[in-house]
Amino acid sequence: MKEQESEWIYLGVDVGGTKVQASVVRESGDILARQRHKTPRNDSPESELAAIESVIEDVLSDAKKRISDIQALGIAIPGVVVPKEGRIVVTPNMNLSGIGIGEHLRQRFGVPVAVGNDCNLGALGECWLGAARNATSAFAILVGTGIGGGFVRRGKLWRGARKAASEIGHIVMEIGGPTCACGNRGCLEALASRTAIERDIRQAVSAGQSSVVTELTGGNLDAIRSRILRKSLKRGDGLVTQVMRRAAEVLGHACLTVRHLIDPEIIVLGGGVVEACGRFVLPIVQEIVDADRLPGARPGGGVVASALGDDAVVLGAVALARSSAGRSPFGNQLCNV
Ligand SMILES: [Zn+2]
Repeated sequence: MKEQESEWIYLGVDVGGTKVQASVVRESGDILARQRHKTPRNDSPESELAAIESVIEDVLSDAKKRISDIQALGIAIPGVVVPKEGRIVVTPNMNLSGIGIGEHLRQRFGVPVAVGNDCNLGALGECWLGAARNATSAFAILVGTGIGGGFVRRGKLWRGARKAASEIGHIVMEIGGPTCACGNRGCLEALASRTAIERDIRQAVSAGQSSVVTELTGGNLDAIRSRILRKSLKRGDGLVTQVMRRAAEVLGHACLTVRHLIDPEIIVLGGGVVEACGRFVLPIVQEIVDADRLPGARPGGGVVASALGDDAVVLGAVALARSSAGRSPFGNQLCNV
């Protein structure tokens, strides 16, 4: 079928520490093509930018589209950004700090570019087409290498007075606990991210505990991927079950804090760890939230798993691009406030 000339098409990009993912997306949210490339490790800003540009070119050719077919491009960055200027303030796990990525891509491709934080955009994506699509307000928590979040109310992201709101990964859950990547101690991220889970498993194994993880990773415990965790849980591994239970409990208490602080209609849990091990994690989290004893904390809402998985952030980037082109899927003028 020949596409109507008036069809609006967007490009969404999710820049991550391990992979850069891009999709060509219709205004409806239908994904026409997906591409993912590995992020160059510990490389120069130039080569990281080149990786972003090449995934954009590849996804366009996959979708059989030209850049001139694209109305706007939305890009999600794992770090602090100034959306209005399209500038990256800091990316802790990449070398893109200080880069004016919006202007760079606009000059390179000649399309309008909207820039946002990855977890904020994950929340936006879930509100547009995912687990929170019918909710008035939603808080999303993404658990992967780190832990990030986003709060959306009536199609608008809440970014805070200093544009650093929803940093749920850095609420302190254990005073004096393990040192976090941010420099503080005992953060949620230092206790329940995949990095924290890996660390606890490694420490226990080197202290002599046995685990199927040793066999599943071929003895290389440097990087224990989420699917290894899932396989270990499936095989009933004692150590992984114990470590994951503890991480899920901490996450459950963080959800309880979100509820007490913001009381969103729904809390969405996503990210690689939840995607791989959600069946194990979700019931533990839900049990803790349900056991809330605070007077006046009425039941309802609850905690749900992401419905978009890997696509959440890319679709959120497209929602942002749509919003900046004056066609917000939520009917608001701007998703970013
Ligand atoms: Zn922290």
